[in-house]
Amino acid sequence: MRVKTRATHVPTILVHGGAWAIPADAAAAHEAGVRAALKAGYAILSAGGSSLDAVESAVTVLEDDPTFDAGRGSFLTSDGRVQLDALLMDGGRMKAGGVACVEHLRNPIKAARLVLEKSPHVYFVGDGAEQFAHAHGIPLIDNSELVLDRERERLMVAQARQSAGLADQTFSGFDDDKSPETAALSPAWDSHDTVGAVALDVQGNLSAATSTGGTLNKTPGRVGDSSLIGCGCYADNLSAAVSLTGWGEPIMKLVLGKWATDRVAAGSAPEIAAREAMSYLYNRLGGHGGIILLGPDGRFGFAHNTPAMAWGIATPAGLQTGVKI
Ligand code: ASP
Repeated sequence: MRVKTRATHVPTILVHGGAWAIPADAAAAHEAGVRAALKAGYAILSAGGSSLDAVESAVTVLEDDPTFDAGRGSFLTSDGRVQLDALLMDGGRMKAGGVACVEHLRNPIKAARLVLEKSPHVYFVGDGAEQFAHAHGIPLIDNSELVLDRERERLMVAQARQSAGLADQTFSGFDDDKSPETAALSPAWDSHDTVGAVALDVQGNLSAATSTGGTLNKTPGRVGDSSLIGCGCYADNLSAAVSLTGWGEPIMKLVLGKWATDRVAAGSAPEIAAREAMSYLYNRLGGHGGIILLGPDGRFGFAHNTPAMAWGIATPAGLQTGVKI
């Protein structure tokens, strides 16, 4: 049953394109990608379309943009493949659709939408996910179409460092890093280009979507937080919509997306809850990342505990983007 809300709401969409130490020469490409995604999503919302269509459309634009770690241009697994995870959630109908470890789909978020709409199940992985998408009209492509030379090079460098016994270039946003173990296990600081969107439509329905190629040099078969319900993505009209990026393992252990939306349901402003989620991530597990959070009343929050995060928002008041909050 759809939860009824007030008749007219201010259409709003928030987008992120990863949280890490985005270098100055990559900032413009990140902002341009986020802007294009906002435009696609907001065009749907302003025409009275659904928040679910808006987040799917925004994330499709970001998957198609090789700047980001989603779709074509994603980071590679340790054996040189692109392996993708994505989730969509409709907070009005409380429906979700997710796919993980897919290697032959250009836009995993579209496969996730098909799971949401056409299946009694919620989550498909690997070959089963691809076959399900194909049976519903999505062409399967060769994995090499998703792989860029830029990423082959990046993987080679990461693996050369690894075999030389050099520590990953771990995130160093804090001087008082919690523990040496944390630093040793943390993925390289430059591997958080996951994308996501949250939106509120004029009917008052919230939706969220997150899509990723995961972390650089990941072991094949590894699934991170991004496509797991309540971890990297969640939406419920009774609480909030959220999408996260960052080091997936700590985010998963804290079920951080649901943690943040529960705070909004309990009365916190999304702006505060987003910042608290990032503090909790770091204080509890030494984790790092970024979050976008949107309440059913249109109040929103952005936060990151990394040096930068590609972010943007579109409302009837206009469109705004940045790489730092
Ligand atoms: N959260 C993603 C993962 O761990 C990575 C990212 O945000 O870039 O798979």
